Amino acid sequence: MLLSELQTGERGVVVRVTGHGAFRKRIIEMGFIKGVTVETILNAPLNDPIKYRIMNFEVSLRRSDARKVEIVSEKEAEREIIHHDDYTPLEAPEYGAMHHIAEERSKTINVALVGNPNCGKTSIFNIAAHAHERVGNYSGVTVDEKVGTFTHGGYTFHLVDLPGTYSLSAYSPEELYVRRHIIEKNPDIILNVVDASNLERNLYLTTQLIDMDITMVMALNMFDELKRSGDSLDIGQLSTLLGMPIVPTTGRSGKGIDKLFDTIIDVYERNQDAERELATPSYRHIHVNHGRDLERCISRLRTELYEHGFSDTLSTRFLAIKILENDKQLETYVQQRDPDGSVLKMRDEIADRFKKEIGRRLVDKDISKGHQVTVEEEPQDIESAITDAKYAFVRGALAECYSKNEKSTLHAHTDKIDALVTHRWLGYPVFLVVMFFTFFCTFAIGQYPMDWLEALFGWLGEQVGDAMSEGPLKSLLCDGIIAGVGSVLVFLPNILILYLFISFMEDSGYMARAAFIMDKLMHRMGLHGKSFIPMIMGFGCNVPAIMATRTIEDRKSRLLTMLVIPMMSCSARIPVYVILVTAFFSQWAAFVLMGLYLLGMVMSVLMAKFFSRFFVKGESLPFVMELPPYRMPTAKAVLRHTWEKGKEYLKKMGTIILGASIVVWALSYFPTNPDRRVQAENSYMAKIGKTIEPVMRPCGFDWRQSVSLLAGVGAKEVVASTMAVVYATSDEEAVTLEEDSESQENERRISELVRNNMSPLSAASMLLFILLYMPCISSVVAIKNESGRWKWAVFTIVYTIGLAWIVSTLFYQIGSLLHYQLL
Ligand code: GDP
Ligand code: MG
Repeated sequence: MLLSELQTGERGVVVRVTGHGAFRKRIIEMGFIKGVTVETILNAPLNDPIKYRIMNFEVSLRRSDARKVEIVSEKEAEREIIHHDDYTPLEAPEYGAMHHIAEERSKTINVALVGNPNCGKTSIFNIAAHAHERVGNYSGVTVDEKVGTFTHGGYTFHLVDLPGTYSLSAYSPEELYVRRHIIEKNPDIILNVVDASNLERNLYLTTQLIDMDITMVMALNMFDELKRSGDSLDIGQLSTLLGMPIVPTTGRSGKGIDKLFDTIIDVYERNQDAERELATPSYRHIHVNHGRDLERCISRLRTELYEHGFSDTLSTRFLAIKILENDKQLETYVQQRDPDGSVLKMRDEIADRFKKEIGRRLVDKDISKGHQVTVEEEPQDIESAITDAKYAFVRGALAECYSKNEKSTLHAHTDKIDALVTHRWLGYPVFLVVMFFTFFCTFAIGQYPMDWLEALFGWLGEQVGDAMSEGPLKSLLCDGIIAGVGSVLVFLPNILILYLFISFMEDSGYMARAAFIMDKLMHRMGLHGKSFIPMIMGFGCNVPAIMATRTIEDRKSRLLTMLVIPMMSCSARIPVYVILVTAFFSQWAAFVLMGLYLLGMVMSVLMAKFFSRFFVKGESLPFVMELPPYRMPTAKAVLRHTWEKGKEYLKKMGTIILGASIVVWALSYFPTNPDRRVQAENSYMAKIGKTIEPVMRPCGFDWRQSVSLLAGVGAKEVVASTMAVVYATSDEEAVTLEEDSESQENERRISELVRNNMSPLSAASMLLFILLYMPCISSVVAIKNESGRWKWAVFTIVYTIGLAWIVSTLFYQIGSLLHYQLL
């Protein structure tokens, strides 16, 4: 528990002091060191500060500071003793236990991985935590935090893998996320992972972390590449300059990781002890020097912040720098705590003065250095001056300890491949070939396991059917669960193959190039180059596709992409397509299917353009996309990555589809009727279908079609299985069908039934409706989660249903008209 929760008269033992920099140090210097006993003398609920007795003298702490001290209280210890009755200390049981538990707990270290995208955080995470996370060569693969727990050197580590960021501003959701994690979760150690083959840009983030005044250890990752390139780096020197220990690592092979965690233990232990901390230069906190003028501005604002009591949760230096950079989120934070606005007023004043007096001079200096500057160049504002100063600091540090091998051939192959795949014209055919190959393998190779699975489920249904006696339970198992889930599971091989290709492209670095060359096209419709990948993934399953939109930094493009993904024809729709196409258009099957896919894509383009004009407001950010060097992905990583995506699909099957299958089955099974023919006409399902039939009439649908579509709201796969049920049970000879529900034979028979009960025009209209109408429940939930608002989820439901209805109605009505004209 926290020290602030300890009631008057109670005792506890300190486990650790969290928080950062100066504040933590102050608390430690007052004597709150791990293992020390504290007693609360006065803790009135509304009273601040709280009085404590510690080592026989009294101190008082502000409540906010007391919240930074983790303790074990006597009460907790007592409770623990009851649970561990094998623990028998000699005297004063709870007292001894308190120390014992505090000692144990202080051996847990919370570590957060922070670094640029693609620097190897997840690789390190995986090796350390033996976890199975996706490792990719494509920025943005890690999109929310992953926690792994493991032990090393007698300590337990809670390791958190955070999303990759280039900076800590409030610019993208990842950046905000990382910042919030550091501030709110107060990890004991920040493990800053740095790509050694790209130091300048990686260290920029490090300078911002230094501003936050947190305890850090640096993993100098990709050290193998640094060595191979022949560059030279004086690590000891860099470590002294940055004020943190640096451990060279190779995330791919795991080299250096043990040493890294040994170092973390060392830093953690020093950190809880005020005296040991200063012993080595690489363990001391430094300030990134922004140059005299800027430093003066920062320290003026900092004093103001300090006087307004801002020193408790955040480093005032960090806060000062951030609000000088016009950080909107922290501005709001300051405004809330300082309603009369004097801090922000001072900020504006400082920023104005800076621009007028110093910013002008900075530009002049640029001109005198011979830089190309147009005459009407604006004086530099404080925000960009801070960025420049940070880069200058990094360059200065590197100048002292790093020298580049100009003759390095490390990434020569990357340049060669890029000359082809990002070529202005050749890039597109290459891309098309890659895509074609991907889809070819997905469907051609995928057909084999699909057939096996189909056979397997048919067999399973038969076995279960034979073994059980007639009755609702048998029907539930065979017609409900096995048929429902089976019809979905057969697509798993296709999906896995598609995702295997996508994972390989991501992990090798090709996906970044694909996004790069697609950007011009995507941009025209208000989307982003990176929108392309999630849209392609949508052909597999919309749910992981919607989740993949997280890689798009630009909020507007991200939202637009999410909204149009449901138009991408996911594999769940294939079974219905197959049934309807076989029934009516078997001669042109390939064309009709192709046409549906294309229509979906065209619709998504039109919709994106439409929404970006009328609904989704906001400026698109300029396209900034890193092209990482090509790296041969490890087979393990690609397989893991594939599995991660496939898992979402399976999850959906185990939950929503299973549930929907049971509901659909129950609605069509009850109320039971001895006569099978009337059964279908009288079931609850039929009642619902007949109720909505009038609305669906203009699209050309009868109650059976309506009800199948309605069932598809749970999951699109269910449309096919529902049709199997409503058409089969309405036709006497088809009753035998249910015995081998999932074989191809069966599909053909359903097609036959459908042909007797539906007109080709109505079938075509239904195909259109299925393509466009409401995404399944899982997708809707995914949209809600990713956009953060129910509003957009509801919007998607409304617009897709509306669109489907309009398109199908137009199609059917015009079609009928032509039909009469022609006959
Ligand atoms: P993250 O985005 O920071 O989580 O980075 P990942 O862990 O996904 O790694 C990005 C790419 O770098 C992958 O292709 C890894 O295989 C590769 N990688 C990671 N660490 C190293 C390393 O130390 N050396 C080399 N050569 N490659 C690495
Ligand atoms: Mg990662």
